[in-house]
Amino acid sequence: MTLQALTKTAAVASTPGLLVPGQMLGLLGGGQLGRMFVHAAQSRGYSVMVLDPDPASPAGRVADRHLVAAYTDPEALNLLASHCAAITTEFENVPAQALQRLATQRPVTPSAEAVQICQHRGREKALFTQAGVPCAPHALITTDADLRLASLHSLLPGILKTVSLGYDGKGQRQVAGLSDLHTAWLELRSVPCVLEKRLPLQHEISVILARAADGSTAHLPVQQNLHRDGILAVTQVPAPDIDPATAAQAVQMALRLAQTLSYVGVLCVEFFVLQNGQLIANEMAPRPHNSGHYSIDACDLSQFDLQLRVLTGMPLVKPRQHSAAVMLNLLGDLWLADGMVREPDWRSVLSLPGCHLHLYGKTQARAGRKMGHLSLTAPTALEARQNAWVAAAALGMPGF
Ligand code: ADP
Ligand code: MG
Repeated sequence: MTLQALTKTAAVASTPGLLVPGQMLGLLGGGQLGRMFVHAAQSRGYSVMVLDPDPASPAGRVADRHLVAAYTDPEALNLLASHCAAITTEFENVPAQALQRLATQRPVTPSAEAVQICQHRGREKALFTQAGVPCAPHALITTDADLRLASLHSLLPGILKTVSLGYDGKGQRQVAGLSDLHTAWLELRSVPCVLEKRLPLQHEISVILARAADGSTAHLPVQQNLHRDGILAVTQVPAPDIDPATAAQAVQMALRLAQTLSYVGVLCVEFFVLQNGQLIANEMAPRPHNSGHYSIDACDLSQFDLQLRVLTGMPLVKPRQHSAAVMLNLLGDLWLADGMVREPDWRSVLSLPGCHLHLYGKTQARAGRKMGHLSLTAPTALEARQNAWVAAAALGMPGF
């Protein structure tokens, strides 16, 4: 739909503090997270208008209205504000000024200030420290002179990460010694970076919570995540290797971060569990998260339902996980074999009990591109895992 095709509608009706079904909600970003939000919102009776410059964006294709325009396009932002009762984002790198501009006209959650912190690894780590949440030893690198600081020695071997715009392991270089540091920084185009000590990880986990404007919160069970090549590959819930005390501590830390930020919306905090059992905050996402996709099929409220509830002012209720779940990410590699494009063997995976296939409607498969996910749900964690192993083998994916 073109911008011109949209005419300004009458003022949006609302009950004070509560946006009832039937209203139009705005979403910045049209990726798969947005697509699943649109599905959740529409199934509860809301309409969604998506702003994303890509005419084929996964959320744009299923939204009630898709504004194909840049995130900073003033005309598009005005249209979004005039049509939508409240606005949220699914895209972490949405320009803060777009959120700020919208917030002068409509409720916008999460706030531009919170999103700006999550967009910058340096600011994020400062927040961890402020909230008393441990994070990896690190240093900011913004000039050539920073590379020569003697103190960097203690951070090696380490990982050099761009402070912004990194995702799925992109914008990172492993640094074994001081001699590699300069090359790594040049490879990252000498943009501001953090050098982070490489830590001995035992496990990775995440906490997804929702916080409402009145400070009430709800969270999903702790997820255990396996990454391959910097990209999430497998999420297991319940987390098979995490003791209840560590899980409770992670939830408390995530809640503390949300409170320190006065956060409103869905927030994901990724943690490392070190080999000595210590819990370390890695990074945050101001939106639903890939590790929460299992909640669509395994919980009575998904992370997208939580996002909708915060946005509409509906009460937050703790989601109940009714099935054990394993989520497998389906990357474009599955479609690409021997230089040919082929359809993965859905027949064998869909013959498994409790198998839920989600595809994001992306027309082109590329290596490492998230095309969809598979959730395997079962009465017990063991059954979910066994079925996930069978599914992974049938699709030619590595076991876990
Ligand atoms: P992204 O934004 O790409 O997800 P992350 O900082 O989460 O970036 O890094 C991706 C993955 O790299 C992590 O999930 C973890 O497996 C590994 N990693 C990142 N930082 C460290 C670290 N300091 N020590 C050990 N492994 C790390
Ligand atoms: Mg990460």
